[in-house]
Amino acid sequence: MAFSRKKAQKGARNRDTQILVFPGRFRSFLQLFLIAILHSSLAPRCALGVSQSLGCHFPVFRLNASSDNTRSPRIMTDPFPRSRQLYERAQRSIAGGVNSGIRKLEQPVPLYFDHGKGSRLWDVDGNESIDFQTGQGALLFGHAPDGLADAIAAQARLGTHWAAQCALEIEVAERLQEMIPGAERVRFSNSATEAVLSALRLARGLTGRRLILKFEGHYHGWSDEGLVGFAPPPDRWGSDEEPARLHPSQGVIPEVLEQFVVARWNDPEHLRRRVAQHRGQIAAIIFEPALCNTGCLEPVEGQIAAIRELCDREDALMIADETITGFRFGAAGAQGFYGFAPDLTVLGKAIGGGVPFAAMAGRARVFEPILRGEVVHAGTLNANPLCLAASRWCLDEIRALGSSHPAGIQALGRRLIAGLEKLARDHGVPLQPQGPGFVFHATLLRSGVEAGPIRDYRDYVRRHDAPRWAHLRRCLLEEGVRAIERGLWFLSLAHQEADIDEALSRCAPAFARHALEWTA
Ligand code: PLP
Repeated sequence: MAFSRKKAQKGARNRDTQILVFPGRFRSFLQLFLIAILHSSLAPRCALGVSQSLGCHFPVFRLNASSDNTRSPRIMTDPFPRSRQLYERAQRSIAGGVNSGIRKLEQPVPLYFDHGKGSRLWDVDGNESIDFQTGQGALLFGHAPDGLADAIAAQARLGTHWAAQCALEIEVAERLQEMIPGAERVRFSNSATEAVLSALRLARGLTGRRLILKFEGHYHGWSDEGLVGFAPPPDRWGSDEEPARLHPSQGVIPEVLEQFVVARWNDPEHLRRRVAQHRGQIAAIIFEPALCNTGCLEPVEGQIAAIRELCDREDALMIADETITGFRFGAAGAQGFYGFAPDLTVLGKAIGGGVPFAAMAGRARVFEPILRGEVVHAGTLNANPLCLAASRWCLDEIRALGSSHPAGIQALGRRLIAGLEKLARDHGVPLQPQGPGFVFHATLLRSGVEAGPIRDYRDYVRRHDAPRWAHLRRCLLEEGVRAIERGLWFLSLAHQEADIDEALSRCAPAFARHALEWTA
C-alpha cells in the first residue's frame, strides 16, 4: 500500500486531499471540479510541456504522442499536500518556484525535503523514500553521513571562509594526486559548470585555438559553453554527419555556438571525419567518459582510444568531464575503470559529497598559462574550507574502500537491475536498463522500436519513451522509491542489499499500477 511507511502523526494530519479519478464518467460535480483543478499536476503527460519550457537538461520529445496515455482507475490520496503548499508559496518569491530547472520536472509536484539519512530521504509530508536520485549523484556516501557532518561542523567552528590559503587545500590536492594518475596539478572551483569553463579557457589559452569538439547529448553544465549540442530537437538537429550546434537556452551569446564542433557519441569513424574537417583548429575534445546525462551510454570499443589518438595527433587537449563518473567508477574514476589518460579532468559531485565543490586536475604543463598569468582562474569562494573539509573526508572514505570499490556498489546495482527486469517482465513493461550498475538508466522502449543497447543521443530520443518513464517514475515515487526525473538511478555506498530488496518490493505495486494505468 502506498505510503504505509509514512511517519504516522506527521503525515496523517496533512493527508486530507482526496483526489477522485474514475475512468469515463464522473460521479458528481465535485469530482469534476477537483479533477479540473488538479489535472495539470496529475497527468503524466504534463512532464512534456514543463520539460520543454524550462531549459532543463531533460530531452523529451513527443514523436508519436497521443493526447493522454493513461487510464485513471483508482481513488488516490494526495501524499504531498505540504509540498504542494510550499511549492505554491515558493512561486511568490522564487522565480518559477525552483532554483534549478530540472527540479520542476518532478511529478506530481516538486517535493520539499525535511531530512535524509543513509539511503533514505523524508519529505515534508513525512513520506520516506529509498533514494536513488542521491542529490543527482553527488551523495556517493548517502545522506548525512556522521563523519561528513562532523568534518563540516568542526571546520565551521574554525572558520567558514578566508579567501586565502589553508593546509586543507594541499591535503585535498595531494589526495587527488594519489588517486588519479594524471593529476599532477589541480585547481578548485565551486561547481563543475565553473570547472568546465576554466578547462575550456585553459585549452584555448594553451593552444591558441578556439574550437572545442564536444558530443551530442553530453552535458557539461548549464553555461553558454557547457550546453552546446545538448538535447537538440529532432527537427533541428542536423544531419548524422554534421550535427547542429544548438543551445537549449535563449540569451546565449550567438558567437559562442560558433566555437564548437558537435559530433555524435560512439561512432569513432564519424569522430575522425569530424576532426579532419577542422584540422589544426581544435583546442580540446571534451566528453563524459560514460554518457550519463542522456541515458547511460558507456563508450563503445575504440571510442575513447580514438579521442586520445586524435588529441595527440592534433595537439589538442583531451578533457574528461568526470563530474558524474569521478569516484563513482572507482577511486580513479572512469579513467581508471576504462583505462585511459586524459590531459585534464573535471571533477564534481562526489568529490564533495553534496557540498558545492569541484576541481580541474591534470598534467602540469596544461596549467602553465595560469602560472604565467595568461589565463585567469579565480573565485572568492574557491577552495572554501568547509568544502575542503568535506572533500577530505570523502576522499579518505574512498581510499579506505581499496579494491572493494566500485565492485560493491556495482553488485548492488546489478541486483537492482535484475529485480527491475523481472518486474518488467511480470507486468509487460518494456524496460531496458542500461549502464554499469553503480549508475544505470531505465529506458522504456517506445512501442515498435527494437530492443538492444542504445548508442547515442539520436538513438536515445528515438527509442526511449520519456512520457512513459515519467509515469512509471511517479508510480515508483508514490511507493517510496525515488529515481531521477530523466530515468537515471544512482547507487550510493550507503545502500545495502536489504535496501535493494526493500526497494524492489516497493517497486512491485508501482509496476502493477503503471501497467494498469498506462495505455500505449
Ligand atoms: N558536467 C557533467 C558531466 C554533469 O553531469 C554536470 C551536472 O550534472 C556538470 C558538468 C555541471 O555540474 P554542476 O551542476 O555542479 O555545475
